[in-house]
Amino acid sequence: MLNELTKTESSPRSSTGRGMLIVVSSPSGGGKGTLIDRVLKTVPGVRYSVSYTTRAPRGSEENSREYFFVDEPAFREMIEQGEFLEWANVYGHLYGTSSAQVERERAAGRDIILEIDVQGAESIRDKVADSVSIFILPPSFELLRERLVTRGTDSAADLERRLKGAPGEVAQYKDFDFVILNDDINRASQQLASVIYAERARRERQEVSLSDALEDFRVTEPRAIASGTDTQA
Ligand code: 5GP
Repeated sequence: MLNELTKTESSPRSSTGRGMLIVVSSPSGGGKGTLIDRVLKTVPGVRYSVSYTTRAPRGSEENSREYFFVDEPAFREMIEQGEFLEWANVYGHLYGTSSAQVERERAAGRDIILEIDVQGAESIRDKVADSVSIFILPPSFELLRERLVTRGTDSAADLERRLKGAPGEVAQYKDFDFVILNDDINRASQQLASVIYAERARRERQEVSLSDALEDFRVTEPRAIASGTDTQA
C-alpha cells in the first residue's frame, strides 16, 4: 500500500511542484555512502547528485557513477560559467554540485540527495531555504579511524588529513536539521528514510499534491450526505 502511494516518481509533491533538496554530511569515512545507497534502493522518488571532483578515482570508482572526474582547469571553467550550486576545497581537492542536475530532478518532482562536506552544507543552507540537512555522526573517533584504514583507499597523508579534520567537522553537527548516529547500519538507514518520509509530509510541501482533496471540501452548496435511505431518522 505504502509503495503504491509513494510511486510518484514524476508527480509533483511540494507546494511548488518541486522535489526536496536533501543534504547529507559526515566526516570522511562516516559511512554516509552506505546509508545513502540503502535509501536510494528503498525509498522511491529519490535521486543521487553526482558531484564533480578533481581528485583521482579510487578503487572501483567509475566516472559519472560516484563522481564526474575532471581536471582542475575544467573544474575552474565550470566555476567561471556558474555551473555549480556549491563547490568547496575538501582536503586539497575541489568538489562541486551541478546546478543543472539538481534543478532537473527537483523540477521533475523528485527528491535529490547531496552527499557533501560541511562547507557545502553551509552554502546550501544559505542558498536554498527549503533544503533539509542531515548530519551522520560516527559512533566514535576510533571507529572512524578504523573505517578509513580498512577502506585502504587513501594515502597515509590523505588519511591523516581526513582524521585531523574530523573533530572540526563533527563540531558543526549543531547547524543541521537532523543528526543520525551511525552505530547500526540498519537502524541508521531506516532513520534516514524516516526523515525523508516525514519531510515529504510537511504541510507546506504538499499544497499542490493535496489541492484536489482540499478543493473537494470547499464545496459550498449543500450536498447529499447519503444517497438512499436516511439512517438518521
Ligand atoms: P571523498 O574524496 O572521500 O569521496 O569525499 C571527500 C569529502 O568531499 C566528503 O565529505 C564528501 O561528502 C565531500 N564531497 C563530495 N562531493 C562534494 C561536493 O559536490 N561538494 C562538497 N562541498 N563536498 C563534496
